[in-house]
Amino acid sequence: MQKSFLPSLFLALILLYAPSHAKGNHDLSFKVSRGDAFYKFFFNAGLSGDLLTKLMSSDKKAQRLNNIFPGDKFRIILNDDHSLKEIVFSPLNDNPLNIYYDGDTFSYEKKDARADSELTYTVVKIQKSLNYDAKKAGVDSEVVKMMVDHFSWEIDFSRDLRKGDRFVLSWNGGNTPEAMIYIGDRKTIALFSYKDSQGRKKYYTSNGLTINETFAFAPVKYSRISSGFSKRRWHPKLKTYRPHRGTDFAAPKGTPVYAPAKGLVKYVATLSGYGNVIYLKHGSELVTVYAHLSRFAKGLKSGKRVKKGELIGYVGSTGMSTGPHLHYEIRINGIHKDAEKIKLDKRSTVPNSEIPSFQKKAKRILFELNIK
Ligand SMILES: [Zn+2]
Repeated sequence: MQKSFLPSLFLALILLYAPSHAKGNHDLSFKVSRGDAFYKFFFNAGLSGDLLTKLMSSDKKAQRLNNIFPGDKFRIILNDDHSLKEIVFSPLNDNPLNIYYDGDTFSYEKKDARADSELTYTVVKIQKSLNYDAKKAGVDSEVVKMMVDHFSWEIDFSRDLRKGDRFVLSWNGGNTPEAMIYIGDRKTIALFSYKDSQGRKKYYTSNGLTINETFAFAPVKYSRISSGFSKRRWHPKLKTYRPHRGTDFAAPKGTPVYAPAKGLVKYVATLSGYGNVIYLKHGSELVTVYAHLSRFAKGLKSGKRVKKGELIGYVGSTGMSTGPHLHYEIRINGIHKDAEKIKLDKRSTVPNSEIPSFQKKAKRILFELNIK
């Protein structure tokens, strides 16, 4: 593996920088990597520093060339005599900018022509695990984490993934995909990127909703918060100060407890301290805990998926409890958070006015992949 790596890297570099001689034109393509600067590509095309200075001072639009990011692409097109004809700058997250040179002056044209750009695809077919198989398919670990964070809202990676399931990523030149699609035996989940007005790129289902859900503040109809999150609280039964790493909602015994967002039942058990307790997992990092329940909802068991607002149990006073209340915890990557203070990600939506173009893009990707 190591032996063949270097020669193929050199070959890739040669191919990357080698001009193609189609129809007498010299058409060079460059892709921006971390630390690249535009002048490097300009000089690589055999163009002079004087011309670069002329270009950069020709229009303030030229400043855009000093602001490039990994994944952006350039084409530098030369005339037969190797003089500059055209520069096509295709930023990852913006429309292409064409700069023409007639030997005397530069002219600029910004196109909104992303629709006919070429998409490429990576298919990860599950043999062992997403981590293993994605790495084998050359998918960056950051992207794998992003896939897990999103799809964990609908798939339990430890239970639901089957050999032969596929993940398809569609690319438009950047380091994050345009679309992420899971194709399993029982379901297909397709997520498409959309950049909001603040320039944040997120992934949405074809309905224009992010895959996460906005959490209800409390999983129960309560009369008051009888005890908040605190690092030091007097424990009347243990007669000592202990941290209270949850929120207590006072409510009569038998009050229904509902899932505050969709999730997966990780754990249903009776423990000495917590009494009857439920752990729900939401996405890849978030776990919620419901303790001191009098009983569980019928049929609730680990591995079951619950919807937002679905009944999971009833308030009680089991375990180490001084009276009926719901002890509720939010943990992120195992760290307890204050439910009264934490700002959890809300569900985002694609604005109504943008839905037609968003769905057009989604349809095109599904069509190319032959997914209905
Ligand atoms: Zn408590």
